[in-house]
Amino acid sequence: MESSSCMQNRSLSQYAASTSLLTSRHAIQRPLTSCRVTGRAHLRGNGRNSSIKERIASVAALPDSTEVVIVGAGMAGLSCGYHLQKAGVGFTILESSEGVGGRVQTDEMDGFLLDRGFQIFLTSYQEAQALLDYQSLDLKPFYAGASVRWNGGFHRVADPLRHFADGLWSLFNPVGSPLDKALVGLYRLKSLLKTPDAIFQSPEATTHARLKAEGFSDAIVDRFFRPFLGGIFFDRELQVTSRLFEFVMRCLATGENCLPAAGIGAVARQLAAQIPPGSIHTGARVQSVTGPLPGKPGQVKVAGGQVVSASQAVVVATEGPAARALLGDALTALDSKTQEGVGTANLYFRAPRAPREENMLYLNGESSGLVNNACFPSTVAPSYAPAGQALVSLSTIGTQPGMSDDELAEKCKAEMAQWFGAEEVASWQLLRIYRIPFAQPDQAPPTDLSRAVNLTNGLFVCGDHRDTATLDGALKSGRRAAEAVLAATAALPVSSREAVGTTV
Ligand SMILES: Cc1cc2nc3c(=O)[nH]c(=O)nc-3n(C[C@H](O)[C@H](O)[C@H](O)COP(=O)(O)OP(=O)(O)OC[C@H]3O[C@@H](n4cnc5c(N)ncnc54)[C@H](O)[C@@H]3O)c2cc1C
Repeated sequence: MESSSCMQNRSLSQYAASTSLLTSRHAIQRPLTSCRVTGRAHLRGNGRNSSIKERIASVAALPDSTEVVIVGAGMAGLSCGYHLQKAGVGFTILESSEGVGGRVQTDEMDGFLLDRGFQIFLTSYQEAQALLDYQSLDLKPFYAGASVRWNGGFHRVADPLRHFADGLWSLFNPVGSPLDKALVGLYRLKSLLKTPDAIFQSPEATTHARLKAEGFSDAIVDRFFRPFLGGIFFDRELQVTSRLFEFVMRCLATGENCLPAAGIGAVARQLAAQIPPGSIHTGARVQSVTGPLPGKPGQVKVAGGQVVSASQAVVVATEGPAARALLGDALTALDSKTQEGVGTANLYFRAPRAPREENMLYLNGESSGLVNNACFPSTVAPSYAPAGQALVSLSTIGTQPGMSDDELAEKCKAEMAQWFGAEEVASWQLLRIYRIPFAQPDQAPPTDLSRAVNLTNGLFVCGDHRDTATLDGALKSGRRAAEAVLAATAALPVSSREAVGTTV
């Protein structure tokens, strides 16, 4: 019978040969009422999500040594672990917070599901398609379009291929000219002619410059693109790279915008549930890392004094600024954008009903106002609210640090009273405000949406600062880091592998 370490190494080199290798901090504000973060009964039976609790170990149970240490259990770290596991490589994930998923988490509060910042799952994400079981996620789609608030009324912008009559009708609304809408269709078509990788390498400008160069009017830029893309990239100035604008257009053309029935956190939980029990340790804040060298294992020091040795690699899968703090100059030398990013505040209210029953995203097309986008998640996925109630979600650009929670909630409600009626909004009660200073890294040009992940000294890096700052970009960077680890390990001479304690 083969020993497990022998099998492990064989599969590692087989994997290396068979794959194309080398190719916040969440400032969650004081809860206004008590909040449970645990799942509820109807979420537990959700396919592969069910056994997540058994997979998480405490910091007290840290091993002394492993092959690969991954720092961070966000989408990138989980993806890296998933791919290493497929290759038979042992690993330990060290996560400083008490949960998995990083920026992709959902809290439960009084029967409501509160995503930690309003997020949308795009079914066309390619890495996600390869890793996730969409059926178990029970994805609930938004209407393919949006309702734009402008000049005292709502104006519908619809995808004519999915809602033909609405699309035709929306040609004549004041959100833009008929030419603008034809240009949207043309741009959507053009985005389909390129693969995502080709889009990421295409010539870039700011999205604003690209929209103007394509001939879009100020009306559609101000009334639609600013709130729509502003909500995705937390940037109403549209300084984000045109590559991401093209990517989003392609994703919208090829898939749907959804919420998982059990909240966005179900995506992370499903991935974590595919990782061996006991390999994720929460409450483990890493303070320093060194990579393994021939004859000397890498060392990862955790707050509290424990040290975990890594015989093959250390992968830092944290947010960009945290990666820079751990990796220092080694990362800066790798053409990185690790500066502070863009943020948002997300306000949740309970309501006796949604003022509109459609699964719609509402956008602020005016040039003023705090709320950039609003929706009623329970009209998209009823599981977001207890029976007979509705959940309201409002998002602002920036965290609004100058305002207390009560002030921010009152100001946003006053705006929403203009949109949905004073009587309706008067019944809304604040559940919670999430202020997220670091939602995404800066993505203005110049960008490199496939940055290097191998620091060449036994240290590797992944996270949304290496690829696109999306859930899918984080998954992809995790896979790339795993492949780089496997390539580097396979490249080590056998004697070195023996020297660092690996059996062949
Ligand atoms: C409000 C909001 C809305 C968004 N909307 C969308 C959307 O609609 N669609 C989309 O695709 N993407 C969206 N995103 C972006 C997407 O969520 C992120 O790009 C992605 O989740 C990043 O994953 P990551 O693994 O790179 O980083 P993270 O999720 O930040 O994971 C890093 C992990 O490392 C841990 N860590 C940090 N330092 C240490 C340390 N010293 N020791 C141990 N652990 C450490 C952190 O606690 C964290 O768990 C949104 C993000 C936010 C916040």
